[in-house]
Amino acid sequence: MSEPAPLANLIGGEWVDLPDAVTLDVPDPRSGRSIGRVPLSPPSEVDRAVQAARQAFGKWRDVPVPERARLILRWARLLERDAEALAELVVRENGKSLDEARASVARGIEATEFAAHAPTTLQGSFLEQVGRGVDTTVVRQPVGVVVGITPFNFPVMIPLWMAPLALVCGNAFILKPSERVPLSADRLARLAVEAGVPAGAFNLVHGGRETVEALLAHPGIDAVSFVGSAPTAETVYRTAAAHGKRVQALAGAKNHLIVLADADLERTVPAVIQSAFGQAGERCLAASVVVAVEPVGDELVRRLAEALERFAVAPVIREEHRRRVLDWIDRGVAEGARIVARGPIPADAGGFFVEPTVLDGVRPEMAVAQEEIFGPVLSIVRVRSLDEAIDVANRSRYGNAASIFTASGRAAREFRRRIEAGMLGINISVPAPAAYFPFAGWKRSFYGDLHASGRDAIEFYTHPKVVVSRWF
Ligand code: NAD
Repeated sequence: MSEPAPLANLIGGEWVDLPDAVTLDVPDPRSGRSIGRVPLSPPSEVDRAVQAARQAFGKWRDVPVPERARLILRWARLLERDAEALAELVVRENGKSLDEARASVARGIEATEFAAHAPTTLQGSFLEQVGRGVDTTVVRQPVGVVVGITPFNFPVMIPLWMAPLALVCGNAFILKPSERVPLSADRLARLAVEAGVPAGAFNLVHGGRETVEALLAHPGIDAVSFVGSAPTAETVYRTAAAHGKRVQALAGAKNHLIVLADADLERTVPAVIQSAFGQAGERCLAASVVVAVEPVGDELVRRLAEALERFAVAPVIREEHRRRVLDWIDRGVAEGARIVARGPIPADAGGFFVEPTVLDGVRPEMAVAQEEIFGPVLSIVRVRSLDEAIDVANRSRYGNAASIFTASGRAAREFRRRIEAGMLGINISVPAPAAYFPFAGWKRSFYGDLHASGRDAIEFYTHPKVVVSRWF
């Protein structure tokens, strides 16, 4: 079979091949077989994209807001038209199940539709008679050229958290997608072009670390939206800020899911399984530690083990990652945890599968309870009270998401008030906010100020301008 041709960048409305660039293979995680090649764009290519975006920004910012919104709506309709093909692409390059892929594409469309409300959401404010004859107006104006740097785990949804909103606010946008899932990004860009996005207003630049470094240092970039792992988020945040850019960097996670003895286990167990092992644990909202408040531990573990026998796990993203996850399981055992349940993997799997694994007897200070594994591994920590459970969760340096399963409104309220995390679930195991709410964590799960999505994102992609006026 012939090798697939490397993907092209979209710069200034043109599809640009990079014949001299280093390229990486894109394997299908389910089979390990190659499905594409992605170029690693050098700094010269980044510069071309930034120049094109700057040039387009001058005109795009003057396009009336309702026209910008209509363009975004056309994009949303095309995404809807091709939703099934996009979901299949996500399955091919990311490995998650078709249902999970469909749900993630639907979330991306929801974010695009939210952006199309700009004629309402971009409105400023006005206060008459601040002083005698003096009025004050606040308008919101675009920040300029925005870059979005995205991770592998949501190839369609996360670029769509960023690009539609940044564009509708009047910015030019450059997408630097994960080099591990570049095919979906290519498709998103083609649909943006079909929707009629002006040349240079939306650009796609493939690449890895060197490409990101060139973007962060480029004086023509004004703002950076990043989603990815904690160490990269921290570096991106520091570097972008040092170059005078505004930045939001959504980072890693270690999410705790508290189960009280009064929880409805019929419903709790499938929810825990979905959260910890759905999408092979490669979700920033995945439960990684279950804090079982005794006496629920034994019964919960028994039921989890039973449910795991019938669970069809997805592959993880790469062979190196598969080995890293297996090392984490070994490390947990070496630290004193016990493997109490293991689910199956496909018998003829050529891909990067890890048996979904439950570790019991985990103590909060163990590395498996503290570090992000980002694979199908669930640690069980047993405690005696809700207070102790909240304390275990709050000791984590991460604070992306946390959930509680209980029948007690009082316990849920206590959890809601005291837990130190950005996104909480009450009898919900993957507490993903809809597109019109902010999305981000606390502590080392987030670097920056304004969160992704919702009103926070509109503020992030615009500057407020305050006009104090008096007429004589
Ligand atoms: P990653 O940090 O490896 O990559 C993210 C992006 O950064 C990619 O575009 C990549 O090309 C680039 N990159 C990688 N290393 C870099 C470096 N050294 N310098 C500059 N750029 C670099 O993340 P990933 O493995 O693709 O994604 C998984 C991670 O993302 C997990 O840690 C997960 O928790 C996190 N995540 C967080 C959220 C959230 O909302 N907080 C959402 C999704 C994923």
